[in-house]
Amino acid sequence: MQAAMTDTASLHKQSAIITGGGRGIGRAIAEALAARGASLTLVGRTADVLATAAEEITTRHGVNAQFRTLDVTDGAMVDSVLGDLVRDQGAPSILVNNAGGAESAPFTRLGHATWENTLNLNLTSVYACTHAVLPTMLEAGYGRIVNIASTAGLKGFPYVSAYCAAKHGVVGLTRALALEVADRRVTVNAVCPGFTDTDMLRESIRNIAAKTGRTEAEARADLARANRDGRIIQPAEVAEAVARLCAPTAGGTNGEAITIDAMEAA
Ligand code: NAD
Repeated sequence: MQAAMTDTASLHKQSAIITGGGRGIGRAIAEALAARGASLTLVGRTADVLATAAEEITTRHGVNAQFRTLDVTDGAMVDSVLGDLVRDQGAPSILVNNAGGAESAPFTRLGHATWENTLNLNLTSVYACTHAVLPTMLEAGYGRIVNIASTAGLKGFPYVSAYCAAKHGVVGLTRALALEVADRRVTVNAVCPGFTDTDMLRESIRNIAAKTGRTEAEARADLARANRDGRIIQPAEVAEAVARLCAPTAGGTNGEAITIDAMEAA
């Protein structure tokens, strides 16, 4: 009980930028950081979703939650929006690179456009957002960067080769950058969820059912079996791992890729 109270109070006076923070895993991360007292900037493409999330989080947790619209695949927009943000508000304590998505196709039908879009959305966006924010963290002498990769960043899955390549790239970027900034009080870690209950998973289940003739329940059960403990992970479980990495006391964990697919049932 004491440990839990200390943990939930651990992000007071910290500020966090969360990409794709309006829904799914990003929204759960926003809730977990706000519950610990962090102020938030949610960034993503859809203003009304972000505005609703920011308003609900402010009401629920009593923290300042704002939003900025931003397509993380547009490098110039990332530089401009995040550049303005850090110029106006100073270095964020926390950056969570969460925005991402997957399209499935057999490799022989994977066209150049899907390959490039998938790499841009899942890997180059992490470079771009980190590149826009890291210099201010280094100047401030403090930062926590958490990249939402995937178990697809650590092992292969069929029909999502571009996504696997991108997420392996995120893990590689995390490990390399962590070493580069290790002596500057900035940590860079990756969290690698297994199949997690969000819109992204529900869309995959619909696609599998449509393409294979299996029912959605069968497709969901197959995906659950791919997680080490055989069940679908909840976004809040991923968010808890992220919040732990964001704590000021987490400085000893750097360059890690932490898998979230085998926790005990909630
Ligand atoms: P989701 O589709 O519910 O959320 C993705 C978020 O990213 C949304 O807020 C979306 O608006 C945002 N986004 C997408 N493209 C964007 C763009 N170009 N610019 C700005 N924002 C953009 O999916 P989710 O499951 O919550 O996924 C979050 C992260 O978790 C992703 O990086 C995903 O790859 C990863 N992940 C998900 C699962 C899973 O099973 N759901 C498993 C492992 C990893």
